Amino acid sequence: MKVREWMDNIIKEEENEKFLNEGKDFINDEEIEELLHKNRNPDPQKVRDIIAKSLSLERLEPEETATLLNVEDEELWEEMYEAGGEVKRSVYGDRIVTFAPLYCSNFCVNNCLYCGFRRDNNLQNRHRLTLEEVRKETEALVSLGHKRLIVVYGEHPLSDADYIASTIKTIYDTKVGNGEIRRVNVNAAPMDITRYKILKEVGIGTFQVFQETYHHETYRQLHPSGIKSNYQWRLYALHRAQEAGIDDVAIGALFGLYDWKFEVMGLLYHTIDLEKHFAGVGPHTISFPRLEPAVNTPLVEETKYRVSDRDFKRLVTVIRLSVPYTGMILTAREPAHIRRDVIPVGCTQIDASTRIGIGAYSDSSDEQKLERQQFQIGDPRSLDEVIRELAEMGYITSFCTADYRCGRTGKHFMDIAKKGKIHYFCTPNAILTFKEYLEDYASPQTKEIGEKVIHNHLSHLKDGIKPKVEEYLQRIEKGERDLRV
Ligand code: SAM
Ligand code: SF4
Repeated sequence: MKVREWMDNIIKEEENEKFLNEGKDFINDEEIEELLHKNRNPDPQKVRDIIAKSLSLERLEPEETATLLNVEDEELWEEMYEAGGEVKRSVYGDRIVTFAPLYCSNFCVNNCLYCGFRRDNNLQNRHRLTLEEVRKETEALVSLGHKRLIVVYGEHPLSDADYIASTIKTIYDTKVGNGEIRRVNVNAAPMDITRYKILKEVGIGTFQVFQETYHHETYRQLHPSGIKSNYQWRLYALHRAQEAGIDDVAIGALFGLYDWKFEVMGLLYHTIDLEKHFAGVGPHTISFPRLEPAVNTPLVEETKYRVSDRDFKRLVTVIRLSVPYTGMILTAREPAHIRRDVIPVGCTQIDASTRIGIGAYSDSSDEQKLERQQFQIGDPRSLDEVIRELAEMGYITSFCTADYRCGRTGKHFMDIAKKGKIHYFCTPNAILTFKEYLEDYASPQTKEIGEKVIHNHLSHLKDGIKPKVEEYLQRIEKGERDLRV
C-alpha cells in the first residue's frame, strides 16, 4: 500500500464521537486563560488550604491548580516543594522506578516542527530496526540490568501495529543469564481501536501519548501536515486505548511550545476527562519533557516559551500536587543536576543509561549521533552511576513489574494508589528487585551503598511482611530470582 493511502485510512473520527460534546473537546482555551487570569496574586491561606487538600491525596480542581500556578512568593513555593515530596512519599514511598527507552524506527510521515524525526528533515538518517537488531539492543539493555523498557517509533506504515507487536514479542523473548525484560511500555502514534487490540494481545504495559501542546492554535501551527495535524485524534488517543482494553495509559506535554501554566492546566483537564469516562481511572503516569536541541530543527532555539529551570521545578511540583495518585516521569532529557533537584518534589520514574539513536545500545561508541536521534539528551550517565546517586539520596531503585504481572493495573491500581497504599506492595517488591540488581549487575561501590539503603528500608517495613522479605533476600543471595510478594 502506498504511504498516502495508508495515511488516509488511519483516522476513524467515529471512534471519538462518543467522547465529544457537540463536536467540542474538553480543552476550552478561553476558560483556561480566564482561570489563570482570575486567580492571580492568590491569598496565602487559600494556597495553604489547597496544599492541605493535596496532602489528603485528593485530586485538585482546575481553579485550585490555577491558584497554585499563580503563586509568586518564594516561601510558599518552598512549602509546595515540601508538600510535593510528602505526597509522593505517602503514595509511593522512597523508591524510584527505572527504565530505558528503546527507539525502534525513525521513519515518520508527520512534520512536527520541533522534532528531528520529522518527514522533511533531510539531515536525519532513517532506519527501522530488524527484529534481529531489536534482539541485540535488548540483550545490551538486559546486560546492564534493565527490566523495563519504553519502545518508541515514528508514525509510518513501516512501524504500524504489526511491526510494533513483533518488536514487543522479540523483546519479551530475549533472555541473558538471569536477566529479561518484564514490562514493555510503548510511546507511539495514536491508533484506532483495532490496532490497539493487536498491542494488547502481545502484553504491552502502558501506552503513552504526549499531546505536545494543549493550546489549539499553537498545535495547529506546529503540526502543519500529516496525521498528527488532527488535534482531536491525538487528544482522544488514550480514551480509545482504554476502549480497546489497554487500561494503563500515560499522558504528557512537551514543555517549551506554549505557556507552561496553560500546559499544566491541559494535563489536569485531560486527567479529569479520563477519570470521567473510565470509572475514575486517570493517567497511570504524566510526563513533562522539556524541548531539547535537535539536528536541523531551528524551532527549538526560536521558541519564546522556553521553560527556565526555576519554572520547571515549579511545574513538576504543581502536577504532583494536582494529581497525587499519578506516577511522574522525569527523563534523561534533563541534565544530572536538574534531576537531583527535581526528583525530590515528586517524581516516581526516571530512565537511565539512555541512548536514543536507532541501534545505539549495540553501538560501542559513547558519543551521541545526532543525525540518528530525535533530540539531544542531557543525562547520558550509566545505570550504575544513576542508581548509586539515588542510593546516596536514600532511594531504592525499583525494577519491579509485579503490579502489572499480578493484575494491579487500571482501576485496581488506581483504587490502591488513591488510598495511598501502593507502597505496601511496592516497597517490598522494590527492595527485592533492587537486591537482584545489586547481586547481578552493580559495581562494588554501588553494591555497598545499596545494601545500606536496603537495610534502612527494611527497618521501616511492617512486622507482618518483614520476615518474608528477609527470607526472600537470603534466597536471592543464593541465586533465586523473580521472587515477589
Ligand atoms: N511519533 C510518535 C508521536 O509523536 O506520538 C511517538 C513519539 S515521539 C518519537 C516521542 C516524544 O518525543 C514526542 O511525543 C515529543 O513529545 C518528544 N519530542 C519530540 N521532539 C522533541 C525535542 N526536540 N525535544 C524533546 N522532546 C521531543
Ligand atoms: Fe514524527 Fe513523533 Fe517526531 Fe512528530 S514527534 S515528527 S510524529 S516522531
